[in-house]
Amino acid sequence: MKSEEKQVLTAASGDADGQEPPSSYGGFRNETISFTAKAKKEFPINEKAQAFKERFFPGVSSLDWNNWQWQIRNSFTSLKQLETFLYLSPEEKTISDREINLPMRITPYYASLLDKCNPLQPLRRTVVPVIDELIVSPGEESDPLSEGHDSPVDLIVHRYPDRALFLITGICSVYCRYCTRSHMVGKKEKSHPSLNKIDAAIEYIRNHPEIRDVLLSGGDPLTMSDNRLEYILSRLRAIQHVEIIRIGTKVPVVLPQRITSELVKKLKKYHPLYLSIHFTHPEEMTEETKAACNRLADAGIPMGSQTVLLKGVNDETEIFTKLTHELLKVRVRPYYLYQCDPIPGSSHFRTPVKKGLEIIKGLRGFTSGYAVPHYVIDAPGGGGKIPLLPSYYKGKEDGNIILSNYENKKYKYPDYM
Ligand code: SF4
Repeated sequence: MKSEEKQVLTAASGDADGQEPPSSYGGFRNETISFTAKAKKEFPINEKAQAFKERFFPGVSSLDWNNWQWQIRNSFTSLKQLETFLYLSPEEKTISDREINLPMRITPYYASLLDKCNPLQPLRRTVVPVIDELIVSPGEESDPLSEGHDSPVDLIVHRYPDRALFLITGICSVYCRYCTRSHMVGKKEKSHPSLNKIDAAIEYIRNHPEIRDVLLSGGDPLTMSDNRLEYILSRLRAIQHVEIIRIGTKVPVVLPQRITSELVKKLKKYHPLYLSIHFTHPEEMTEETKAACNRLADAGIPMGSQTVLLKGVNDETEIFTKLTHELLKVRVRPYYLYQCDPIPGSSHFRTPVKKGLEIIKGLRGFTSGYAVPHYVIDAPGGGGKIPLLPSYYKGKEDGNIILSNYENKKYKYPDYM
């Protein structure tokens, strides 16, 4: 083996060779690939991550650390592993790996951003299970959006006439404790879906000319190999009526090392292609994530953010404003602020709706319009996204409508046409 070559882990399940993925978790196997000096420099390693790497992965090279398959292979997946780098609180300690509904997975990179002493640190709350997950409150359901009802074939949700949701995998590189799809991610499949299932879903889209927009989601599509992704993208792009393709992902935030130049080169072949990135908190905006977003933006990929409003995590106007400003700096447009979906065991994350309205009110007028996302509730039972806005309309008087501006000052607009 040449010195610049390295034995690394690479995703085999994504090969577009018609083979079924192997049954191991995520379908990863050993394979030799070449690295160049350029690859080594693809990503910075922030100070915190560097210290974490040296302490908990001594001897691991920067090359391995910056390899996304290495990150997945070395993720923390059990309470016992968490205890090696976190002081667990009683709430974190008393839930066992067997009891949790959604498996745990935290990449070493994201783990390096967690506060080892403070269980209430926002980032830590989003990925470390706590005993509250076992409390099921009224109105909570495992498939709150009733996606199962709108699924004509496996992997497809076809709710709106012109759009289809294509759930191309059930695997994520990090599992969020409030995940809407916790009923299917990380457990239904131990590896990515077979090509037969993927092909059948693509065939459904091909046979429905009304579908002009396909959203690839899951799970996280970017946990698939470049080859498997390209297999899917190229077939979708070959369908004339598919105008745009979107990918929903959290990878640039929890596994930015996945956004390699190779991947981006492939993605940009399938324009118009959009990315919706799941951001939660401004502390996620590290050098690595900035590098990933800038690389995607330089490839002409329009990006929007999707953020779930979470109690004790990002439910303060100041935190949210900081997040939206950081997003705009790396050319990600704040797109949606979601009210947290009522999945079982989510009450410790859910805020009153008035909190979301307060945040939107605290943004509109106080910062650029680009920084203000749509605040929506994805209606339980399959009603789709319903926007919520603070009320600026205050009624009608003598042919004028009365409006209240961001400073609560009243204005009239002639409305007698
Ligand atoms: S990345 Fe998305 S799909 Fe995966 S666990 Fe988080 S919210 Fe769920």
